[in-house]
Parts: sequence; C-alpha cells; structure tokens
Amino acid sequence: SAGAVLVVRHRMRNSGKWAKAMDILREFEDRCGTPIAKLRQVADAMTVEMHAGLASDGGSKLKMLISYVDNLPTGDETGIFYALDLGGTNFRVLRVKLGGADNVKKEFTEVSIPSHLMTGTCEDLFDFIAGELAKFVATEGEDMHITAGTQRELGFTFSFPVKQSSIAGGTLVRWTKGFNIEDAVGQDVVDELTKAMERIGLDMRVSALVNDTVGTLAGGRYSNTNVIAAVILGTGTNAAYVERANAIPKWQGLLPKSGEMVINMEWGNFRSSHLPLTEFDENLDNASLNPGEQIFEKIISGMYLGEIVRRVLLKMAKEAEFFGETVPLKLETQFVLRTPDMSAMHHDSTPDLKVVATKLKDILEISNTSLKMRRVIVEVCETVATRGARLSAAGILGILKKIGRDTIKEGEEPQKSVIAMDGGLFEHYTKFRKAMQTAMDELLGEEASNNILIELSNDGSGLGAALLAASHSQYREYIES
Ligand code: BGC
Ligand code: MG
Repeated sequence: SAGAVLVVRHRMRNSGKWAKAMDILREFEDRCGTPIAKLRQVADAMTVEMHAGLASDGGSKLKMLISYVDNLPTGDETGIFYALDLGGTNFRVLRVKLGGADNVKKEFTEVSIPSHLMTGTCEDLFDFIAGELAKFVATEGEDMHITAGTQRELGFTFSFPVKQSSIAGGTLVRWTKGFNIEDAVGQDVVDELTKAMERIGLDMRVSALVNDTVGTLAGGRYSNTNVIAAVILGTGTNAAYVERANAIPKWQGLLPKSGEMVINMEWGNFRSSHLPLTEFDENLDNASLNPGEQIFEKIISGMYLGEIVRRVLLKMAKEAEFFGETVPLKLETQFVLRTPDMSAMHHDSTPDLKVVATKLKDILEISNTSLKMRRVIVEVCETVATRGARLSAAGILGILKKIGRDTIKEGEEPQKSVIAMDGGLFEHYTKFRKAMQTAMDELLGEEASNNILIELSNDGSGLGAALLAASHSQYREYIES
C-alpha cells in the first residue's frame, strides 16, 4: 500500500542520515587519535619547546616564566597568613595558621565572580576582590588573629600568565579562560590589588605572587619532598616544575643558593604540528576571546571540552538531521554544554542512559532521543575526553624527559617523582583521570611508572601561596647557614 511505501522511504532516508552521522563521528574519532607514537612526538615537541622558552624570552610559544621561587617550603614556616586564589569562575580567600609540618589550620570562603567583572575594568575587578577580602578579614576570630601592631600578609595566587619582576610583583602578559579586561594587560597585578586594598582601607601586604601551578607545587612539596612538578587540569591547564637554575640561559640574576628555580611553563599555550586538531577545534578557537592562543588548553581543559562536544553534535544535527528535521535551537549557543554535564553523560551507567536523556532535555531541550543516539553522544564525550587526557599525559612525559626522570637509570637507586595535581577536571572527571593514568603507564613502561606518581593535591595552591607568603614575610628572620 501507499502507506507502507512511505514508511519504507522514510526508513531509507533515515538510514542514509544515520550513515551520514556515523561518518561524521568516525571522521572525528580518526582525527582525534592519540596512538602512543603520536604521544611520544608530542612529548618530544614539548621538551624541545621547553628548551627554547628557557633560552630566551619569546623563544617559544611556551613562556617558561621564572617564578622567583627558588626555595620550596621546608615545613618550619610558622604564623598566620592570608591567601587569595583568583583564576577561574570562583575565587577563594584563605586564612592559614602554620605551626610546622602537618600542623596547619585553614579557614576559607569561596565567592563566585560576577561574569560582568570578567570582561569589565581592572579597577572594578580588584575593588570587588579587595572588598570580599576585607569581609573575610573581618571574621578573624580569637584563635586565629594577627598580633596587634603587625601587618597582615598575603600570598596572591593569580592563575594567568604573569611576567614576574620579583617574588611579589609582576605584569599580566595576557588573559586566558574567558577573562578579558584590556586595561589590566601589562599592569602589575600586585600594584592593582594593593591600590584597591588601600582604597577601602585594608592594610595588607602582598608578600608573594604565584601562579596556581607554583602554589600547588609549593603546597605539595610541604607534605611530600618527592614532589617535582605540579599540573593543573581545571578550567584551564598548566604546569610548573623545579628546574636547575643553571639550565635557564635567559636568567640574568645571581644563581640562587639552592641552585633551583621553579618555572611556570604556561603549557596551555603549547602548540605543535603533532597535535591532533580537528575542524571543531579550529572553529572553537576562531570564535574564542583569544584566537590563536592557548591551543593546548583548548583541547584539554574543562572550559572547552563540553564546548567541543557541542560543536560535534551541532554538525551532526545540521548535516545529518541527527536530532530531527530542525536543528535544536539551544545547541547553537556557545558554551551551553559545560564539561561537568558532559562528564555526567559520559559516566552514565544506567542501562538506558537515563542521565544522558535528562541532560539533553534539561540543557539542550532535546527530547525523544533513542538509546542508539544516546550511545553516539556518549561516544563523542569519550573521544573528546580521551584525547585531552592522553595529551596531558604526553605533556607530563615532556617535563619528565626535560629533567631526566622519565627512565630509571641503570645501577641507580630508583628515585620517586611525584606530580602534584589539582583542578576540577582531574578531581571530578574520573574517566579523564583514568585515561590519563593509562596513557602515563603506556608511555613510561612498568618500572618507571611505578616510580612516578600522579597525586591529587586538593587546594594545594592556597596552602602553597600562604607558605610562600610566610617564607617571604617581612618579619621573617633570615638565619644564615
Ligand atoms: C593560565 C595559567 C593557569 C592555568 C590553570 C591557564 O589558562 O594561563 O596561568 O595556571 O590556566 O589555572
Ligand atoms: Mg584553581
């Protein structure tokens, strides 16, 4: 009958579309491939760029910024210090009482930054921060207060590329992660914060300015002397590590006594022809606040993973009518699909993928998906997360190679190396974390991978900033050895 003919036609058309959707999916998967050989090329390219960035300013896409941290915490830091952590959508203020190793008391508050301040003026942003800091200082209680007559001191974790001029000063090179406050670029961020504190009559000295990676490294080292590097996998991504001072040709100052210097790599800006980039990454980059920059970050970090998934689904919707004849309106909106939601879909363990269905409905207003379609969506999440995770592992291998810790030297006692990790992506996205560890194990081989430990250092950066404020305190007595 005519009805049956229509049904058959409809099915044929649909199967043609399904095939088209599968083509898009397979092509995307192919381009995202990260076989071990490719990861090794990425790691080697990372090592090469590290050398170039250390050789001269502007020598590489990797800025390899000198942190002025040449001594990591020892455990005998004492006193009460403040820390401020600015770098994502939230910022944290901490009060830390240091009483020697393993005797740390912390109080903190977390405030979300109104989004208009992320793209407004420098003064407005710092006024807001200083205001919240002052509110927190006002809650200083009996058991944690600063001795009368002494000035409060602060470790300022500022998680953007900063060219430091000292441990407590430096100018913003550029914004990343959705911040874009033009008049702040090139300014000394410690000056800006200090002026804002003065405007509201808050008497506080910034004793240390640190990147979150450097803070995490310091915080990690406090409890584990084998910590040699720190990696953040959160809204953005970056790494810091301990370098030999005489391996930094661009360093003009005196060689520090320790012979070491912590380097803030700013690896988010890494780029290499070996990176598996797709049309979706290119389009995302073009539409971003910082086109051409932070390419590694844009395929790895939490700010972008969900957005990549959205872009793949959008193509499937447009070119293969994946969600029906019309393209779901919400799917056209940049950044609607956040990485935590992507993660929830990816981890959906219900037999009929109920979580995926709910997320699609709540976020994208897409209902009536089949189980087969939901499986495809999970596969897109898997592809995006796995690529990011494995590339992060390659980045870490690059660092280990640079400092000669990627292999166990024959006849030598194996040295333990710990990488302190922080950031919501690493902490909460289990499948990402596991894929990263798997890639590490594959890259290092069993023996080496037993001696290289990737450990969560939850909010190490706040503690680290407080510790560095302590070791650079104006009240610290220098004991010459
Ligand atoms: C910033 C780094 C920061 C990283 C993680 C990147 O976007 O450029 O300075 O360490 O995000 O927060
Ligand atoms: Mg952070």
